[in-house]
Amino acid sequence: MAMRVTPHGARVLNCGPSATLLTLTTKLTTWMCRRSGRKSLACPMGFLVVPLTARAAGTSSRSPDSDSQEFLVTTTLTRVTHACALLDFDGQQVLTDPWFSEKPGYHPGEPVAFTPATLPPLSAVLASHDHYDHYDLNAFSAYPDKDVPFVVKRGMGQKARQAGFTRVTELEPWEAVTVNGIGITAAPARHGVPEITFVIQAAGKTVFFGGDTLRIPELDEVPTRFPSIDLALLPVNGLQIRLALNRQVVMNAEQAGEYCAVLHPRIAVPIHYMFTAGPVGDRLLLKYDGTPERFQAAVAAHAPGTEAKVLAPGEPLTLT
Ligand SMILES: [Zn+2]
Repeated sequence: MAMRVTPHGARVLNCGPSATLLTLTTKLTTWMCRRSGRKSLACPMGFLVVPLTARAAGTSSRSPDSDSQEFLVTTTLTRVTHACALLDFDGQQVLTDPWFSEKPGYHPGEPVAFTPATLPPLSAVLASHDHYDHYDLNAFSAYPDKDVPFVVKRGMGQKARQAGFTRVTELEPWEAVTVNGIGITAAPARHGVPEITFVIQAAGKTVFFGGDTLRIPELDEVPTRFPSIDLALLPVNGLQIRLALNRQVVMNAEQAGEYCAVLHPRIAVPIHYMFTAGPVGDRLLLKYDGTPERFQAAVAAHAPGTEAKVLAPGEPLTLT
């Protein structure tokens, strides 16, 4: 049995390979919580003990009463802001597209749920492309563990190394690496600058992270190679560059919804939709074409087998 620390600092018992101990602990905790009417129990050692049903509650279409040990291995998504997200694969934390600071022309338009100092210990960091709002090394260089595996698009590694990170891997589409037991495969993307998307596999789950790519035909190969996607994070703001005759550089809400009909993720979460360049930048430089609500409507219309969930920064979503 191992212990892990949640993003909010709680220590959670994380049942490991001992099936007998795991079953006994789970049943005892569940019984005690039912008796006390509480969702979790603090024990004298300072652990937060979460029963079977509380960890699964509200996160799965399956009934917790189906009482399976599968419920004990969870994957939790917490959006930090914009396309920056934390994926907790049963205690292994993966951070995508780090963005923690603002500057003129770059505003998340929503809260930022963590700082580099308040992040949990990370098992991997991924960056899809070298735009400030996805690869904020000025701020992220404050993250203390410079030996954390950092996986980026080929050509981006030098910046991470200059920021002090020592274990940088550069990938091209369909190249893969395994770090700390987490499988990371680069997938195609197209944007204003070179970009990759990612398929991340750990704790029995497969997650697609779409960065801020356009909807390109090459993305159809993702479900060919990974036919069972549990969770997809898809950009939806349809960003256009006014000075380039409104050239579109990010998929919009309808395109992201239609892509769900190809990708067939069990759950899809929109990202990349509150960004603003500020009042002047929005008027002169950029246009946006997509909202999370439009994404949900598009998913309902095109991919009824996918559940579209909108998450505020800091709001966890747990898959079992
Ligand atoms: Zn970008």
